[in-house]
Amino acid sequence: MGRKIGDWHYYSGAIHVHTTESDGTKDFEEIVAIGRDAGLDFIMFTDHMTLSNREQGREGLYGNLLAVVGYEHNAPQDNHHYLLFDSPRVYPEDLAPLEYVAAGAADRAIGIMAHPDEIRDRLPEYPPYPWKDWTVSGFTGLEIWNQMSEWMERLTKYNKLLMAFSPRKSMIAPSDRVLKKWDELNATAKVVGVASVDAHAFVQKVGFLRVQIFPYKVHFRCLRTHVILPVPMSGDFETAKGQLYDALRDCRVYVSNMRWGDADGFEFRGESSRDAVVCGGELSNVDDAQLYVSLPERATVRLVHNGQKILQTGTDGLEYRVSQPGVYRVEAWKGRRGWIFSNHIRVGV
Ligand SMILES: [Zn+2]
Ligand SMILES: [Zn+2]
Repeated sequence: MGRKIGDWHYYSGAIHVHTTESDGTKDFEEIVAIGRDAGLDFIMFTDHMTLSNREQGREGLYGNLLAVVGYEHNAPQDNHHYLLFDSPRVYPEDLAPLEYVAAGAADRAIGIMAHPDEIRDRLPEYPPYPWKDWTVSGFTGLEIWNQMSEWMERLTKYNKLLMAFSPRKSMIAPSDRVLKKWDELNATAKVVGVASVDAHAFVQKVGFLRVQIFPYKVHFRCLRTHVILPVPMSGDFETAKGQLYDALRDCRVYVSNMRWGDADGFEFRGESSRDAVVCGGELSNVDDAQLYVSLPERATVRLVHNGQKILQTGTDGLEYRVSQPGVYRVEAWKGRRGWIFSNHIRVGV
């Protein structure tokens, strides 16, 4: 269930979920039931190169859970994975990244680069699938944090057992590389940053054991994407779906690792004499702009301006008088573990 803070309504969910329609290990209905138990407000399904769950009419509201179906497109060489929502169809398999990103933009679909910063090279059986072609245009956003991807990046022959048995604790934070890229992109345009679970619930061999890494229910209690709506989520499916997609397009989004605390109650707002906004918003006036952060509990808060950390303090809330135009975002850390990462507020840009 959503939570109201001030004039805004907050919801959290899981993005990038595979089912048995591609390489996931549970079917749509089973995963929806697990998501409801985990208290998700929404799930965004993305099987590889198929919209079959949507075509079979499975999208909908299941109690309070909104389930929408997009898909994960990949280039013929199996790189440049791209999540597409609200596209009329699955685009042809032989398109280059430039072409399927453009096709999504032409259809006003939501396009999100999946795990753009993978670099792992230690385990030949798990090659990286990074995003390389940055000449593309018309994408909506990127995954700043991908649960399966971070887990794989940190995996070695030696830590496999520990990583397999405490997968949530092994999450640290989005990489500096992806945050840098995201800040650069936001200097000139709004680009949403989301956290993805990339759930398959694969079974792995660890020594003599067969272990299910990240069962769906563990995935759903780890990385979450939170969206902020101006009115409560509708009880009508089509309306609710539109509200979720609009929040993503507007960057009214922050992400969290639930392992370090429930991030419901986090706020990043901006105010000037002319406007009052939440993350994703724009303040036209620098002169009297003020930023506000509040947290459900104390953490180390960093304020980032145009990619540079300008303030760091242990607190459960802060106010900041803006003096420079640019894009601002907030990070909250628990020790060396990243907890909450907001999208940007744009001031005078
Ligand atoms: Zn992928
Ligand atoms: Zn995937």
